[in-house]
Amino acid sequence: MGIEQEILPGCEGVVGSECADETGANKAQEARGGKPRYEAIDREQLSWRRVDVERLIGEEHPARAIWEFVGKLDLSRYTEEARAVEGKAGRPGWEPRLLISLWVYGYSEGVNSGRAIEELCEWEPAYQWLTGARVVNAHTLTDFRVKYEKALNELLVQVLGLLSVDGLITLERVMQDGTKIRANAAGDSFRRKDRVQQALEQAREQVAAMEALSEEETSRRMVKARQRAAQQRQERLEKALKEFGKVAEEGSGKDKEKRRVSTTDPEARVMKQPDGGFAPSYNVQIDTDAANGVVVAAGVVQAGNDFEQLESGIERVEKNLGKTPQEVVTDGGYVSRDNIVALEGRKIEFVAPCVDEAGKGKSSYEGRGVSPQYQSTAFVYDATSDSYRCPQGKILKYEGKEERHMQVSYRYRAQSSDCQGCPVKSQCCPGNRVTGRSVHRGEELVEVAEFRQKMATERAREIYRQRAQVAETPNMWIKAKFGLRQFSVRGLRKVGMEALWACLTYNICVWMRLRWRQPPAVMLPA
Ligand code: SF4
Repeated sequence: MGIEQEILPGCEGVVGSECADETGANKAQEARGGKPRYEAIDREQLSWRRVDVERLIGEEHPARAIWEFVGKLDLSRYTEEARAVEGKAGRPGWEPRLLISLWVYGYSEGVNSGRAIEELCEWEPAYQWLTGARVVNAHTLTDFRVKYEKALNELLVQVLGLLSVDGLITLERVMQDGTKIRANAAGDSFRRKDRVQQALEQAREQVAAMEALSEEETSRRMVKARQRAAQQRQERLEKALKEFGKVAEEGSGKDKEKRRVSTTDPEARVMKQPDGGFAPSYNVQIDTDAANGVVVAAGVVQAGNDFEQLESGIERVEKNLGKTPQEVVTDGGYVSRDNIVALEGRKIEFVAPCVDEAGKGKSSYEGRGVSPQYQSTAFVYDATSDSYRCPQGKILKYEGKEERHMQVSYRYRAQSSDCQGCPVKSQCCPGNRVTGRSVHRGEELVEVAEFRQKMATERAREIYRQRAQVAETPNMWIKAKFGLRQFSVRGLRKVGMEALWACLTYNICVWMRLRWRQPPAVMLPA
């Protein structure tokens, strides 16, 4: 016998408890006298609320520490520089203490754009606390970041002074290291001189065409923006053209890549990256005091190498702190005979691994189709006559020498007539059409040999073992935590200033970790 069910309207085809539950609920609602009423959510509405700005962030919040630290600094230089700005007298609308605190807090949180800080001022509690719940315009922030170069340099000096007084800097041991940070330019923005000249002609024509527009047309906002963009492009290209003079001095004749200049950031250079690739970058040199990891100097250069940057790094430390470091520790990229001698002259103990340069004195023949039995090692040196004898018994006489970073390379050459008529020439020097075969003999410079001996001692090795942690921590922190893997500004001067902001922030974070109340866990690793 089947079960009879009442089928309600809308429940046709539904069997079982589902519709029965709904029916039960409806009946229960009816029993309560109707449907329940809930508060409506209206996300379109505008509302006013009362905010206690002081209580927006906790007592231990890093923004309070930054505000407190910046408050200890003498910022009168900003006011002086602001007065010196062409045609614009007076101090900026926002006090320097606030703008500095906003940038330092921004960098410490990985925010390095004025626009992002402006947006955060609208709602983020720490930024609201700093500004007193007001919004600082992005243009004001970005202008402030790169406008006051002297004041920023002085700010770093003041910060170092305060950290010295706090006992955080000793200058007993300073570690210098370089890191490549990408420029604000794409790899494909690099052009040869003729292409830049061509682009500049076009840009000038465009600017002239925009200038020829009637007053009525140029008064429109969009046209004005386009006019400005065309003008800026022309200026960048003019700068790029000037930069070719500098690039020609920097690169060797064979290095074609260096004969190109970026039309986006003409002062950027293509540099080798840690992953082995190449990218438009700047070389940021950082000196870190080993006592507590404070960055005592920072500079930005266009050269990709490190060995030419050691003395200028030490000079920056001396300028910032008025004192010479007792020991300087670097990686092998800084070791050269000139640096060893220079640091000895400055009475600074230099500690770095001594890279073997023997392989760099090899003959240019190696790897150019020369058979293994005719490589340099097959030539026998005779110290008495200071000459080499080749596998065919011919003599290679001394021709000249070249000083490399760590050794002198002596060059010996066979007579052209001996080689051109030699039955094994195709295996020994296949590319030589006019000259005879040459070989090189490397001799380590005396100073380098002594330095190598010093570096073999246990004491030197022990000091060097500390290098990676001390020297690489600021680099890693600036890139990973502050997000400065690429500069947000262009040109050597502005890039140098952005690097200083990052180092300044890093030092304030060190102070927070070591001296300000309880260390905030988010700012620096234990
Ligand atoms: S090519 Fe010249 S250097 Fe080489 S084996 Fe012959 S003679 Fe000697």
